Amino acid sequence: TTNLGQNESSPITVTDIDDPSHPLHHHRRTVADFDYGEALGEGSYSTVLIARDKKTDKQYAIKKLDKAHIVKNDKVKYVMIERDALSRMNHPGIVKLYWTFRDNRSLYYVIDLAPHGELYTFIRKLAPLDMETTRYYAAEILLAVDHIHSKEVVHRDIKPENILLDDHMHIKIADFGSAKLLSDTGPNQTSGSARSFVGTAQYVAPELLRSDPTSKEADWWAFGCVIFQMLSGRSPFKAATDYLIFQKIKNLDYEFPEDFPDVAKDLVQRLLVLDADKRLGSDAMGGTDSIKTHPFFESVDFDQVFRQPAPLKA
Ligand code: ATP
Repeated sequence: TTNLGQNESSPITVTDIDDPSHPLHHHRRTVADFDYGEALGEGSYSTVLIARDKKTDKQYAIKKLDKAHIVKNDKVKYVMIERDALSRMNHPGIVKLYWTFRDNRSLYYVIDLAPHGELYTFIRKLAPLDMETTRYYAAEILLAVDHIHSKEVVHRDIKPENILLDDHMHIKIADFGSAKLLSDTGPNQTSGSARSFVGTAQYVAPELLRSDPTSKEADWWAFGCVIFQMLSGRSPFKAATDYLIFQKIKNLDYEFPEDFPDVAKDLVQRLLVLDADKRLGSDAMGGTDSIKTHPFFESVDFDQVFRQPAPLKA
C-alpha cells in the first residue's frame, strides 16, 4: 500500500522515486541546494516558493507539500499522480518538473517559475480580451493540452487559475493535482462509483457529473469554458452553489453576451457539447485537428505560436 515515508529511507509509492533509474534522479538535488524566497501562493496542502539553485543561479518555483497534512487528508495518491503526470511532460506550454526530493516534514517539487502568475488575473483586469489575444492564448492552451493528452494524461482542472504566464508572457499550464493517468490501472487510480468529483465545479464536463469515466474530452469542455471567459470576462456556468452549477452544466444553461464574435461563438458551441463523442477535439470528431481546423484558428500558424511574441504585456 501507499504511504509517505517519514525519512529518506522509507517508501513513498509503489513505483518509487527512490528507484535510482528514475529519470528525476539525474543530477540529483536536495533541500540544501536552493535558497528559498517569497511564497508565490498557497494550496490546500502545499506552499509554492520562489527558489534559486545555488549551483547555477537559476530561479525555480518549488512546491513544498506537507507530508503529515497529505496523509491525514488522504491525498497521497493525488500528490503521486501529480508528480508522475508532470514528469511525463516536455512542452514549452507546461511547467517542467526538474527534480523532486524530501526531508522529514515535506516533499519538494522543483518546477519552472512562471513569474507573471495566473492568466486569471489578466482576464480579471482586462476582460473582455480582444479576438487576437484570445486566439493566441487559445492556440497555446490547445497545443499544451494536446501534449498532455499525447502523454496519456487528462489534466481535469483546466481553468485560468492554472494557466500561468512565464517571463515572456507565454503560458505554462500548472497544477496536475487533479490529473488522471490513462495508462495507469494500478491502485493509485480511482474509478467507477468510488470516484469522487475532482477539479473545479464551473469547468467540469457533463459526463463527469454522470460518473462516466474521465477521458480527454473533459479537458476540451473546460477549454471551451476558458475561451468563453477570455471573450466575456466570466465563466459560462456560474451559480451560488456547486449543485446549481452542476444543474446548469447538465442543462447546457448558459448565454453568450450580445457582442460575442460569431466565429468564437461557433467554436464554443462545438466545444460545450453535452455528448462527449460529438464534442470538437474528441477522438470520434477527429481529435485535436478538429479544433485546429475550425475557422476561429484560420490565421494561426500552430508551428510558430510559441516562437511569436505574446500579445499581453506584464
Ligand atoms: P489547491 O492545492 O487547493 O488546488 P493550488 O492548485 O492553487 O491550490 P498550488 O498548486 O500549490 O495550489 O499553487 C499555489 C499557488 O502558487 C497558485 O496560486 C499559483 O498561482 C502559484 N504557483 C504555482 N505554481 C507556480 C509556478 N510554477 N510559478 C509561479 N507561481 C506558481
